Amino acid sequence: MRRGAPLDVLIVGAGFAGLYMLHKARRRGLSALALEAAAGVGGTWYFNRYPGARVDIQSMEYSFGFDEALQQDWRWTERYAAQPELRAYAEHVADRFGLRDGIRLGTRVAGAAWEEARRRWTVRAEGGETWEARFLVMASGPLSSPNTPVFPGLEGFDGPVYHTARWPEEAVDFGGRRVGLIGTGSSGVQAITAIAPQCAELTVFQRTPAWAVPAHNGPLDPAFEARIKADYAGFRARNRQMQGGFGSELPPNPVSALEAGAAEREAKFEERWRTGGFSFLGAFRDILLDERANALAAEFVRGKIRSIVRDPETARRLQPRYAIGCKRLCVDTGYYATYNRPNVGLVDVAESPIERITGKGLVAGGREYAFDALVLATGFDAMTGTLTRLDLRGRGGRAMRDKWAAGPLNYLGLLIEGFPNLFNVAGPGSTSAFTNVMVAIEHHVDWIADCIAFLDRAGKRTIEATEAAEAAWVEHVLAVAKRTVYLTCNSWYLGANIPGKPRVFMPLFGFPAYAAKCAEVAARGYEGCALA
Ligand SMILES: Cc1cc2nc3c(=O)[nH]c(=O)nc-3n(C[C@H](O)[C@H](O)[C@H](O)COP(=O)(O)OP(=O)(O)OC[C@H]3O[C@@H](n4cnc5c(N)ncnc54)[C@H](O)[C@@H]3O)c2cc1C
Repeated sequence: MRRGAPLDVLIVGAGFAGLYMLHKARRRGLSALALEAAAGVGGTWYFNRYPGARVDIQSMEYSFGFDEALQQDWRWTERYAAQPELRAYAEHVADRFGLRDGIRLGTRVAGAAWEEARRRWTVRAEGGETWEARFLVMASGPLSSPNTPVFPGLEGFDGPVYHTARWPEEAVDFGGRRVGLIGTGSSGVQAITAIAPQCAELTVFQRTPAWAVPAHNGPLDPAFEARIKADYAGFRARNRQMQGGFGSELPPNPVSALEAGAAEREAKFEERWRTGGFSFLGAFRDILLDERANALAAEFVRGKIRSIVRDPETARRLQPRYAIGCKRLCVDTGYYATYNRPNVGLVDVAESPIERITGKGLVAGGREYAFDALVLATGFDAMTGTLTRLDLRGRGGRAMRDKWAAGPLNYLGLLIEGFPNLFNVAGPGSTSAFTNVMVAIEHHVDWIADCIAFLDRAGKRTIEATEAAEAAWVEHVLAVAKRTVYLTCNSWYLGANIPGKPRVFMPLFGFPAYAAKCAEVAARGYEGCALA
């Protein structure tokens, strides 16, 4: 065990958030170190190597905007980059900004404790090594703790089991093999589409059908790239004015779906379907705000599913009944058509629940399905899981998992009462999950760096949310959600995918208003915070 020299900033994680935080802290003259459990940088794009893994926000948008030379020099090959290219981008960022010597790879943080007398965090790695820092930045990822549901018998399965979020480095050969795949969220939809042509037989076990719209992915159009790069800063600024921090090229239609005539509605849905991606949800201004408007969009997509999927029973099972966009919308590359392949089968485990995994496959609804390999696309303990799994102790030794037992109390998503000088990046209470996360990360890191500079200028040593500000903020996040369709389904936004997790709506909708609020708080000397 070694006690290193005290740092200004200790960062947990070296995904995009950790990389930018490290760069920013160093540029501000702060001493900083990032501890990363993985053997490489990139976070999400280091771990999620499953076939078909790629972004659902166009790469000209899902990338860093903080450095003009970086955004001019880097060239994406596709409209929606795939995982290997995103990982290479993270590696490039680490090299380009000389960050390697500030990152300790293969170092999992086990816990951290606030020492009141010294006004410092002591951070402990799994191996026992410790560091001290004035500030602790949790850049540990909103989706970085994989969820593996309890399936009786899983350990007795004879073949390999792969979780999409912990995919092996070496290529997995599904040739000639029968594959079972559980889960049809974003990762499942991508993996199903990519694995089906590689394997002998694919059986998909679906609990909730996915809403998916086409990506129309392809090589990046050089004319589009040149146009964006001619004014990249302007493009980023326009995107920051969008609710989700992206999509300024095709803003939401200001018309209500309820006011449009049937022919106009159909034409607009069709136009957005042909454009692809999240732009579909902007076909009318109220798709995410009004259940009746949402139902019209949903019925359009159900019609698409019926027209694409040839077997009527499979098409029936694939048609969701909850509001479109209520769970994260999937952006696909031939997902529904995959079910027309003769080697793909769909089992609805809402109708026929999974009873147990056997050596040769699994039993659902009293019937055994046989396969040679099992893929779990079962998602994450989202937004809170990574923090509550740590032994994170604030003032008076209070544990984060106790503080958050009934839901993630926080202020602006950034600060937590009782945990002085701890900043959380892209977590609950912020817009991260509803935003182009790169925009959310850059905004958070800039805000944190400015906050630390303010404290140092003002001769203050600690900052912490007040209980009152925290309570009001959590109420605000819920009040905003109540004006949308997001509370009408069971999603990971609500913690509904994890048994026993409190049902609290975690992300905030609407980036521009959120960014304005964060700026206002700072301008008012960190209103809602206790400074000492
Ligand atoms: C498959 C997939 C696709 C996605 N696609 C998109 C998309 O298209 N658009 C979008 O906006 N968002 C997308 N996201 C969300 C994505 O998580 C973010 O965009 C972004 O990558 C988050 O970056 P991050 O640095 O905050 O977290 P991460 O990339 O998750 O990095 C966190 C890092 O912290 C490390 N860490 C965690 N705990 C510890 C610990 N105790 N000790 C040490 N290290 C630790 C982890 O190992 C990880 O490397 C996607 C997520 C997934 C899973």
